[in-house]
Amino acid sequence: MPGRAVSRERCLALDAGDPLRRFKDEFVLPEGVVYLVGNSLGALPRRAAERVRRAVEDEWGGQLVGGWNHAGWYEQPMAAGDRLAPLIGAGPGQVVVGNTTSIAVFQAVAAALRLRPGRRVIVSDVRNFPTDHYMVQGLAGLLGGYEVRDFAEGRFDDAAVVLLAEVDYRTGARHDVPAVTAEVQAAGALMVWDVCHSVGAMEVDVSAADFALGCTYKYLNAGPGAPAFLYVNPRHHAAAANVLSGWHGHAEPFAFEPGYRPAEGVRRFAVGTPHVLSFAALDAALDLWAEVPMAQVRAKSMALTSLFVDLVGDALKLASPADAAARGSQVSFSHPDGYPVMRALIDRRVHGDFRAPDILRFGFAPLYVGYADVYDAAATLLEVLDKELWRDEKYAGRLAVT
Ligand SMILES: *Cc1c(COP(=O)(O)O)cnc(C)c1O
Repeated sequence: MPGRAVSRERCLALDAGDPLRRFKDEFVLPEGVVYLVGNSLGALPRRAAERVRRAVEDEWGGQLVGGWNHAGWYEQPMAAGDRLAPLIGAGPGQVVVGNTTSIAVFQAVAAALRLRPGRRVIVSDVRNFPTDHYMVQGLAGLLGGYEVRDFAEGRFDDAAVVLLAEVDYRTGARHDVPAVTAEVQAAGALMVWDVCHSVGAMEVDVSAADFALGCTYKYLNAGPGAPAFLYVNPRHHAAAANVLSGWHGHAEPFAFEPGYRPAEGVRRFAVGTPHVLSFAALDAALDLWAEVPMAQVRAKSMALTSLFVDLVGDALKLASPADAAARGSQVSFSHPDGYPVMRALIDRRVHGDFRAPDILRFGFAPLYVGYADVYDAAATLLEVLDKELWRDEKYAGRLAVT
């Protein structure tokens, strides 16, 4: 059992004094489960279940196509963007919601390339979540004549654009957003931040960046398949082009003109029909975020991840930065048999996930994970390791989604 660092009683006392304590009741969580995968799919906010039910039954069922005009469906991409903006340090009219993060990466990088026509280098991080890097490869292949350079080379002087994630999905390592942004822009390149693993876990400020994007289904809790968001710095609103020039980014979609004329501002980055039902869940999630003090979220997040690191001790090799300030809201460990270890753990109702080749990953969503949860998760993990419970052959085969 852990206990060397802190007792379970002490964890219960920390929970009792937690200023974010009341938020746990806002979520639907199966009894007895410690859910440490909020960095992959956030838990269900109770109010989202009710909001989606209304969208289905009252809006779709009751208003049919009238929902576009009378239930606000048409305005969802910009309305959700304005509500989300404060979570990333942006203002109204600067964020549009829709599509997926992968698509937003394509849009932002393509727009950046057109704003830097003389430069032929795209800097991307080979360690980033692969879809970002894949989208860059596809775009470079389409355009021809572009070099894709790894961020680790640290050379931006001839780059058109630099794409980077604020928090690394695998290790949880966190970049210094203001410092990297300033360095990239001083070199004459444009900066695109992916904040998938930081938004909702800490105070994010991308206001100095040229573009930023992220998803809403991780720490923001908007549900599986929830739409992504794209921030465009106002200094680019007049000149930035959306290469995915769909009708919802047209100045007058319902004029049905044969020629594409972009809408003013960030709205031009909308593409096609919004995912109305997913927006309903996002709307409810954002209602909740409007009540959340983000500084408290970050403070608790650092306390939770540090507690977990302390409790696990040297039973596993830490793959995240040891300093809480240098990581996001996750802790990763490496283990050569990480996959069966994680399966054995999930079988005991402690949910983390596995990232190839050997990473055990644990995300701590401070709105619904408490200190005693962390204690229990660490105790179960240590038991799985000590007793080698993961060696049971039923944990050997891989499932489709890890
Ligand atoms: C989760 C995540 C994505 C997901 O992209 P989708 O298009 O929503 O599947 C992309 N990039 C990063 C860095 C992520 O963490």
